[in-house]
Amino acid sequence: MNTNSNIGINTTERESGLGEECGVFGAYDFDGADIASTVYYGLFALQHRGQESCGIAVSGTSRPIENTKLKKGMGLVNEVFTEESLNDLKGDIGVGHVRYSTAGSSTYENAQPLVLNYIKGILGLAHNGNLVNALSLRKELSMTGAIFQTTIDSEVIAYLIARERINSATVTEAVKKAVQRLEGAFSLIVMSPRKLIGVRDPHGFRPLVIGKRENTYILASETCALDAVNAEFVRDVLPGEIVTISPENGIESDKSLCLPEDKVARCIFEYIYFARTDSYIDGINVYESRIKAGKFLAMDSPVEADLVVGVPESGNAAALGFSLESGIPYGNAFVKNGYVGRTFIKPKQSNRESSVQVKLNVLKEAVRGKRVVMIDDSIVRGTTSDRIVNMIKEAGAKEVHMRVSSPPFLWPCYFGTDVPGREELIAYNRSIEDIRNIIGADSLAYLKIDRLPQLCDGLSICNACFSGKYPIAPPKEDIRGERTED
Ligand code: SF4
Repeated sequence: MNTNSNIGINTTERESGLGEECGVFGAYDFDGADIASTVYYGLFALQHRGQESCGIAVSGTSRPIENTKLKKGMGLVNEVFTEESLNDLKGDIGVGHVRYSTAGSSTYENAQPLVLNYIKGILGLAHNGNLVNALSLRKELSMTGAIFQTTIDSEVIAYLIARERINSATVTEAVKKAVQRLEGAFSLIVMSPRKLIGVRDPHGFRPLVIGKRENTYILASETCALDAVNAEFVRDVLPGEIVTISPENGIESDKSLCLPEDKVARCIFEYIYFARTDSYIDGINVYESRIKAGKFLAMDSPVEADLVVGVPESGNAAALGFSLESGIPYGNAFVKNGYVGRTFIKPKQSNRESSVQVKLNVLKEAVRGKRVVMIDDSIVRGTTSDRIVNMIKEAGAKEVHMRVSSPPFLWPCYFGTDVPGREELIAYNRSIEDIRNIIGADSLAYLKIDRLPQLCDGLSICNACFSGKYPIAPPKEDIRGERTED
C-alpha cells in the first residue's frame, strides 16, 4: 500500500484501498539540449498519479546509444532525484514515470521507465494502465525464450516491441504491430534512439497529451505537466492514435487503430478524482467537471444546511458546485498536514491516533453548531468517511450530510486503477441507508450514474466500476494475482 504521498486525504483513503495509477512524461529537444530537468519537473507535476516509485531515462540522439542513462528509485520525485543525479542524466531525448502499483508489486525492479537493449539499440518505455491479457502474453513470450526481470505488464509491451522490431522497417511499425496484441488500458511513451513515440489505447482509458516549448516536443499524461514546464498544449493524443515525434518529420500521426467514438471508454474517474483539477482531458476541463458533479448533487439530492465543505483536494471543486447551485455558503472545514513523505509511520491499529487524524484536522470554529454538507469524491471501503464524519461531529457540527461526487463503487477496475474486489467495497450488497448508518452521517447521497456522461459533455466513457458494464471483458485471472468474479 502506498504510504508515500503528500497530497492529502485522498491518499489516506488509498491506505484503505483506492489507488491511482501512473503518470508518464517524455521530451525531445530538437536543438540537442539536455532534457532531464524538464522531465523531472514534468514528473513532479504528475506526482498525484503515483507516489511509490519514479524514474527517468535519457539518451543523446547524436551520441553513441550506449550513453543511455537511467535513474529510478522508490519514493517521491523529489526524494529520488537530486541536482547531482539530474546533472548526470545527459541527453536530449528522455522519458519518465511515476508509479502506483496496480499490477505487479511495489519494488525497485518494477519501477519504470523500463530500458531494454535490443537489436536496434536501446528502447525506453513508460506505461500507464493495465493490460487484461498480460498473463497470456507473458506466457507466450516465456515459451519463446523471453526472461522477465519484473512482474509488471509493461515489460511484456517492451518485449513485444523489441521482437516486432526485427521484422519492421521502422520502430513505429514495430510499436504498431506490438500494440495490436494488447488488450486493456495503455498510454505509452516509447523512446527509441531517435524518435519519441506516444500511443493511447483504442478505448482511450488513460489520457495522453502533446505539448511544445520552442523546439522541445513533449508527451505527458496530463496538461498540468505541460504548464509546469512552460510548454504550450498542442493537442490530445486521440484514443487509438500513434504519434511519432522526430526532427525530420515533426509530429506524424497514425490513426488507423482508432475506434468509432461510441466504442471509446475514457475513464470517468479521471475527471472525478484521478486527474489534477487544473488539467484538461480530451478538451474537458477537470475542474469544470467537478463543479458540475457538485451542481448535480445539489439538484438531485438537496438538503437544508448552513455550510458546504469539500474533503480535500478533489472534493473541493464539487463542494463549490454544490454551493453555487444550492446557495448554501461554501467554506473550509479542514486543515491538512501536507508533509507526509516516504518515511511517514502509519499509526498502528492499537494506537489512539488514526492516519486520517494526523493528516487532517477540522476547523472547529467553522463547523461548530452548523448543519454541514460534506462532499467527497468517492467512498471505497467507508473507513475514511466514517472517521471524517466523526471528526466533524466531534468538532461540534449539528448535522453532517454526506454527498459523494461519484456513484457507488460496485465493481473492480482492471484498467489501471485498484478499485478493489466487490467484497471489499462498502456499497456492494448494501443499501444507501446501510452505508449511511455505517459512516454515521445524517444523510447520504451519491451522484446518479446517468449524470456521468454530462460531466464530460457527452464524450464516450467507461463507468464499469459503477455499472459492471466493462468495455473489454475482464480477465479470468487478475494481473494482480487475484481471481476475478465470474
Ligand atoms: S472501471 Fe472505473 S476506474 Fe476503471 S477505467 Fe472504468 S471508470 Fe475508470
